[in-house]
Amino acid sequence: MRKQLIDRYGRVARDLRVSLTDKCNLRCQYCMPADGLHWIPKPEILTDDEVKHLLNLAVDRLGINQIRFTGGEPLLRPGLTSIIADMAERHPTVEMSLTTNAIGLDKTAPALVEAGLKRINVSLDTVDRDTFTKLARRDRLQDTLTGIHAAAEAGLDPVKINTVLMPDINDAEAPDLLRFALHHGYELRFIEQMPLDADGIWKRDTMITAADILNRLQQEFDLTPATEPRGSAPAEKWLVNGGPATVGIIGTVTRPFCGDCDRTRLTADGQIRNCLFAQGETDLRDALRAGHTDDELADIWAQAMWGKAAGAGIDDPSFLKPARPMSAIGG
Ligand code: SAM
Ligand code: SF4
Repeated sequence: MRKQLIDRYGRVARDLRVSLTDKCNLRCQYCMPADGLHWIPKPEILTDDEVKHLLNLAVDRLGINQIRFTGGEPLLRPGLTSIIADMAERHPTVEMSLTTNAIGLDKTAPALVEAGLKRINVSLDTVDRDTFTKLARRDRLQDTLTGIHAAAEAGLDPVKINTVLMPDINDAEAPDLLRFALHHGYELRFIEQMPLDADGIWKRDTMITAADILNRLQQEFDLTPATEPRGSAPAEKWLVNGGPATVGIIGTVTRPFCGDCDRTRLTADGQIRNCLFAQGETDLRDALRAGHTDDELADIWAQAMWGKAAGAGIDDPSFLKPARPMSAIGG
C-alpha cells in the first residue's frame, strides 16, 4: 500500500538522503577528527542489495521523489554506480544527485553519468592549497579541482559547490570562491557551520553566520534577492551582479528552514533519522534482515517520520548535538 512520510506538523518528506559509507579520505575540521573515527563494522553496513531494496521501497511505497547519495565520501563505495544504475532503470523520474569531495571523480564521472546521475554537489571550501591542507588535513586541492571540472565535462549539470566557512581559516575567501564559481559556471552555496563535528569545535559566538557571509560578499558584488520561490530548498539565493548567476546561503543555524523541511535520512548502517539533529534513530536494517515485509518496513519508516521534531533548535540554550557526527549521519 502507498503512503506518505508525513509528520505531525504536516510536513511531507519526499527527499531522501542516503549515506553510503561513514569513511572518508579527507578529515575536514568541521566534520571529522584528525585521526578519523571508529568506522562502522562492515557487517552492520547495508549491502548494495539492501540499499537498492530500501530505495525502491521508499519510492514505490513512501512517495520519495528525490534521492541524494552522500557519506562519508560516497565515491569510496564500490557499489555506487550499480546502485545509481538500478534506481535510474526502475525509477527514471526520480531525481538523483551526489554530494562528494570529488576526489577520484575524474575517473568515475563518465560511468556515473552513464548510470543515470544528472547533478552533483561538490564540497570545496577554498581555492588555496595551503588553506585546503589545513582545513581538510590532506593536501588534495588539485584532486578536488580535477574532479569538479571532470564532473562538468562529463555532463553533470548543474555542478553545485558547497562551502563551509570557518573562522580564521577560510572565512576571508568567500569572494574568491564566488569568483571561481562564476568563472566556471558552477553554482555556489555557502553552508553555515553546524555543531556536527566529532571534536566539538563549533562555537556559536565565533561561527561565520549567513549575515557575515552576505556582508562580506556585498563588499565586492552587487547582490539582489532572487525572486524564485524558495519552497523546501534550504538555500536563500541572490542574483550576482544582476544575474543570471546566483549565490546561495544556507543558514541552518541563524535562519532555520525547519518548517519547510522535506527530508528523511538513511544512514549507511540502515538507521532512519527524521532530522539531521535528531537524538534518536529507527533501525530499519535489523527489521529488513529479520524478514519483515515491505508493508511492515514502510510502516516502520512512516512511524519514524511521524515523530519528527518541529525544529532543530540549534540556537536554543537546551540544544544537544546528536551522538553521531556529520560524516556518520550523511550531510
Ligand atoms: N564527503 C562528501 C562531501 O564532503 O561533500 C559528502 C559528505 S559531507 C558530510 C556532506 C556535506 O556536509 C558537505 O558539503 C560538508 O561540507 C557538509 N558538512 C560537514 N560537516 C559540516 C558541519 N559541521 N557544518 C556544516 N556542514 C557540514
Ligand atoms: Fe569527508 Fe565530506 Fe566530512 Fe570532509 S565533509 S571529512 S570530505 S565527509
